[in-house]
Amino acid sequence: MMFNLKVSCSDSCCSSKVKEDICKVCGQKGHSVKEITVKQFLKRPLSQYKGFYFCKNPDCDVVYFNNEKYIYLKKEDINTKVGIKEGSGLICYCFGYTIEQTKEHGEKVLDEINKKIKSLGCECEIKNPSGRCCLSDIREVIKSEVI
Ligand SMILES: [Zn+2]
Repeated sequence: MMFNLKVSCSDSCCSSKVKEDICKVCGQKGHSVKEITVKQFLKRPLSQYKGFYFCKNPDCDVVYFNNEKYIYLKKEDINTKVGIKEGSGLICYCFGYTIEQTKEHGEKVLDEINKKIKSLGCECEIKNPSGRCCLSDIREVIKSEVI
């Protein structure tokens, strides 16, 4: 099966470089998130928000981790539901698309989001708990439905 779906947008959320680190709780790779993102989604403030990574593994309770400081923030520490960790709910936080809609409408959702990003821009850094553009997550959902 060939996929020719656009996976990134031209906005800052996609062009910014991310680093990877291993979530020590589940052993899977996570990507770095900006301070502004972590700050936005925590129920209780921390003294600093540098050096955090996002664990997207649905089987892991950890959402943000910082191996250097031994800080592991779990779902219960986060003020929103993380759709890609629950397997349901919001996946595109900028325009309100859900995993359920993505499964039902597939590439149509991807198309619509792409158009909206072009005309309206996106704010993934402060709206999406992963701090990143949702397009690659959406592509993964579509792929997993097709197979
Ligand atoms: Zn994890």
